[in-house]
Amino acid sequence: MPAPVPDLTLSIVIPMFNEEAVLPLLVDRLRPLADGMGAAYEVVAVDDGSTDGTPVLLERLRREWPQLRIVRLRANSGHQAAISAGLQRARGSYVVTLDADLQDPPEVIPQMLSLARTEGVDVVYGVREDRSTDTAFKRGSARLFYKAMRRLGNIDTPEDAGDYRLMSRATVDAVNSLPDHNRVLRFVVPALGFPSGTVGYAREVRAAGTTKYPLAKMVRLSVDSVTGFSLAPLRFATWLGLLGGVAALGVLLYAVFARVLGHVLPGWTSTVVIVAAMGAVQLLALGILGEYVGRMYAAMQGRPTYFVAHDSLDSPGPRAEHVEPGPQQGP
Ligand code: UDP
Ligand code: MG
Repeated sequence: MPAPVPDLTLSIVIPMFNEEAVLPLLVDRLRPLADGMGAAYEVVAVDDGSTDGTPVLLERLRREWPQLRIVRLRANSGHQAAISAGLQRARGSYVVTLDADLQDPPEVIPQMLSLARTEGVDVVYGVREDRSTDTAFKRGSARLFYKAMRRLGNIDTPEDAGDYRLMSRATVDAVNSLPDHNRVLRFVVPALGFPSGTVGYAREVRAAGTTKYPLAKMVRLSVDSVTGFSLAPLRFATWLGLLGGVAALGVLLYAVFARVLGHVLPGWTSTVVIVAAMGAVQLLALGILGEYVGRMYAAMQGRPTYFVAHDSLDSPGPRAEHVEPGPQQGP
């Protein structure tokens, strides 16, 4: 793993999966800004196994942008894993993570950096003050999700903070030292409890291309978040079991009374309902258990959530092979 470089102030980590449409727009906005910051920086583009023109485009861009570094993952590993890969390899004293699609305006980065420096905080969260450009479904589900997470997980996450944030070297090292299984960084980072600040911004529309977060991935993220931080679902299963037990006791008493009073009409309907309800409760409880056992299993296997195929820092790649021979070379 590359060691931190002391005079490299900032690493900008950008996960991207099939982002060929938005990449040129991103570079047009990010590069002048980064160059004008008056601080040494690197941009760590984490190519999350893209299958479109993204890798080729990145290589081309790198030829005229020396600060651009490409970390290519071997397979599509997901947004959180891609960010983790970037954090693991970033070398700056501060690290910013942002989406490739320009929904997080890069213009906020200098504000984040100066806040971190003047206030001496370890984390600066980008907080979406205006989400009017997101769909109502996305806004609603996000609101519910953060509320539930704050209650269930007991973590103090700033509301409407996504994965746009700046972290100090100490924070990045702390995150990197944590076990790597399906972690959801937007909750892992606040759970560290390091001193933090926030910078507000308006969430923009995706500048080009389509979302890489279908519903299935959103559900996965929510399940990972909850099971990663809370035992509440397991307790919920216990409560359901207790409730079922009480109900069963009631039914038992009723059955005894009915027998004594001579009402021996066989209650087929009630039997079916009870059996079905009990079955459902048991399956639910098993499913909940399964989620946690599955996580334990994954943690035990210790299999990384991503594999790096290539880092332009380790092997300069095709560029070095085509270096023009200098005038003093040759016999
Ligand atoms: N992304 C990724 N791997 C994936 C899915 C998404 O690296 O498997 C990246 C994507 O390229 C983008 C960021 O994660 O930079 C957020 O994705 P997107 O903007 O599609 O999500 P949305 O904003 O729609 O929730
Ligand atoms: Mg987006």
